[in-house]
Amino acid sequence: MVLHIPTLLVVSVFIFFLMSLLTFHAWLRETRERPLAYLGGMMLLAAVGMVLVSLRDQGADYVPKVLGNMTLLLSAAFNWTAMRVFTGRAPHLPGMLAGAAVWLGLCLVPSFYQSMTVRVSVYSLLVASYGLLTMLEFWRSRQRLEVAYLPALALTLLHTVFYSVRAVIDQGLGLDQALKGYGAGVPFFSFMLFESMLYVIGIAYVTLSMVKEQVELRLKAAAFCDALTGIGNRRAFMVNGERMLIECRRRGESVALLLCDLDHFKRLNDAFGHQTGDQALIAFSQVLTQTLRKQDVFARIGGEEFACLLATADEQTAIQVAERIREGFAHLPLLAPGLLSVSIGVVSSQTAGYELSRLLSQADEALYGAKDQGRNRVQSVTRGASVLQLS
Ligand code: GH3
Ligand code: MG
Ligand code: MG
Repeated sequence: MVLHIPTLLVVSVFIFFLMSLLTFHAWLRETRERPLAYLGGMMLLAAVGMVLVSLRDQGADYVPKVLGNMTLLLSAAFNWTAMRVFTGRAPHLPGMLAGAAVWLGLCLVPSFYQSMTVRVSVYSLLVASYGLLTMLEFWRSRQRLEVAYLPALALTLLHTVFYSVRAVIDQGLGLDQALKGYGAGVPFFSFMLFESMLYVIGIAYVTLSMVKEQVELRLKAAAFCDALTGIGNRRAFMVNGERMLIECRRRGESVALLLCDLDHFKRLNDAFGHQTGDQALIAFSQVLTQTLRKQDVFARIGGEEFACLLATADEQTAIQVAERIREGFAHLPLLAPGLLSVSIGVVSSQTAGYELSRLLSQADEALYGAKDQGRNRVQSVTRGASVLQLS
């Protein structure tokens, strides 16, 4: 089968251009995810670069040799930047321009400018270097990345290996052979055009799906997060709490629930303003974060109500933890002593079982008991108030 290289070039230019338009469209439609903008830029530069390198024998030799290859190297740099931005880092401008700048510098050396073999090798090595940098971005972020990045990594690896091999074996393709469509170098050149089309289509598809997955994870995290305090919200508590209760029941471990309600919060808001109230809520969340362990589940489940499920804790342990929370909050330097206090109802699975709604309603009863007794105290379902602090 004879492959007509000019046709392949035209097809690849149109594919790159179309893919860039679609990627820019996705960028505008999505929440302006920056990796998509860089990816669209990469494809647009690839389309322009292909047009420029095809302008051989038009009288201006520097257009394909210098400008065309610089544009294609910039395109490879945009590919790297798309992945760099995706993994949470800022674009690296000197690195982005380095490939094109090195090319421009080398083109000023006559022996380099005249030798197609050397030009092909250096160009391929520069493209492979951007591939390596792209893989490095994924590798550096492998612990943090929650999305499926392996397809993108595998594609980039193949692309990089291809250009590394090309740097060694490809001698370049003269214009005569390219137009005739046969002779040394033609099969490799055709394969290279195929490879670049497949790579661009593949990388666009996997990047789009990675970006979508990341956006979904972000939205899901936001749906489970309390916007004011940054800790979990009621939905998070119900979902994670149920999961934890099932796990603890399976392992035969006891669980305890603390239901915390800040005291006289309305009064505090009225006296010091809503903003101070908000700060108190944030401060209380920080007390919880500092006091509780990683395996505990805690959340702001209402206006000034917080719930905590303590893993592998019996009632006695839970009361001690609740006391630490109560004291920690009361001693915060946010307001004068005595103005910040919390009442906490405690119940354990040993008395209420492992059903979350039952645990919540029994802890609520204990909490009401604590409020009735005068607030600023911890009360359990079985033992009543543990401490009375009248500060
Ligand atoms: P008690 O000691 O009996 O719990 O009295 P309380 O005033 O804390 O309880 P109440 O249920 O009467 O009032 C709760 C207050 O919490 C009313 C509401 O304005 C306030 N609140 C709820 N959400 C927020 C919030 O996000 N920020 C601020 N600043 N206040 C809030
Ligand atoms: Mg309340
Ligand atoms: Mg309250």
